[in-house]
Amino acid sequence: MDELQVVVDRVYNRIMAEPLEGKVADYIPALACVAPDRFGIALQMLDGRLATAGDAFSPFSIQSISKLFSLVLALQTWGDELWERVGREPSGTAFNSLVLLEQENGLPRNPFINAGALAVTNAIVSRFALPDRAIIDFLGHLAGDIKLVFDDTVFRSEYVHGDRNRAIAYFLKAHGRMENPVEAVTTAYFKQCSIPMSCVDLARAGLFLATGGKTLKGNQIIGPVEARQVCSLMLTCGLYDGTGDFSFRVGWPGKSGVGGGILAVIPGRGTACVWSPPLTEKGNSVRGMRALELLARALENGEL
Ligand code: GLU
Repeated sequence: MDELQVVVDRVYNRIMAEPLEGKVADYIPALACVAPDRFGIALQMLDGRLATAGDAFSPFSIQSISKLFSLVLALQTWGDELWERVGREPSGTAFNSLVLLEQENGLPRNPFINAGALAVTNAIVSRFALPDRAIIDFLGHLAGDIKLVFDDTVFRSEYVHGDRNRAIAYFLKAHGRMENPVEAVTTAYFKQCSIPMSCVDLARAGLFLATGGKTLKGNQIIGPVEARQVCSLMLTCGLYDGTGDFSFRVGWPGKSGVGGGILAVIPGRGTACVWSPPLTEKGNSVRGMRALELLARALENGEL
C-alpha cells in the first residue's frame, strides 16, 4: 500500500478511537441535521497521489471555505484594488462579529470574517451579472471541471436566519463600502456558502495555492505573489480567532467553515482537506484540526 495511504489510515483510526468532542453548528438550522460522527480526510499531493479515509468523498456544506475561493475570484478581477475594500489583519473577534466595524469606519479586518467576505462578494457582484454562478463555476473549474450545485435547503435555512449577516452588510453600506443592494450581496453570499463539496473536491480545488497560483494543468489562476499573499492570510486569519492555535499546532495555511470542513495548503507539496461537523467554541472542526495536526507531524517525521 502507498505510504501516503498508510499515514492517512493511521491518522483516521487514531482519531476515531478518541472521544467525539465539540458541537455541530445549529445557528443555520439545516446544518444541525448532519450526523456528528461523519469524518473524512483527503490528502492530495502535487505529484497526483491521493490518499483518503472515511467520508472523504461525501459532500458537505463548505460554508466559509467558499470565502477563500471568492477572494481569489475577486483578486482575479480587481487585483490590488481589492485591498481598498478589505484589510489584512487578524480580527481576534468572532467570525460574525460587528464590533470592530463600528470602531474602524466600516472597513472589515480581513476577507475571511463575515464582514470581509461580504465586502469581497460585493466586489464580485459589481463585476459579474450572475455572481453566484461565477463563484460556483470557478470552484467547479478548480476542482477539475466538475459540476457543482447549490444546496437549496441550506441556502434557504441561512437566508431565513441571516439577519446578522444582513446587519453587517447594511453597516458596510452605511459606511459607503457596499455599492450593491444588500439583498443581492447577501443572497450571493448565502449561495456560495451553501455549496456542497467533498474533501477530495476541495483538496483538488485548492491545489493551485500550493504551486504559486497554477493548476496542475498549467492554468495560472493568480500570480505567485498573490498566491503567497492568500496563503499568508489563511495562516493569520483562516480559522477566525482560533487561527493562532491552529497555526501553532499545524503550521499550514488553512480555511475552515462551520460545516466542519478545513482546507489546508501544504506549500510546495499539496493540500489536505478534513471534515468532521462538531466545532470548537470558535467555530472550527475539533477533529479536523486534530487530523491536520497529526498529518503535519507525519510530514515532519519524513513519513509523507
Ligand atoms: N454562512 C456562514 C455564516 O455566514 C459561514 C460561517 C462559517 O462557515 O464560518 O454565518
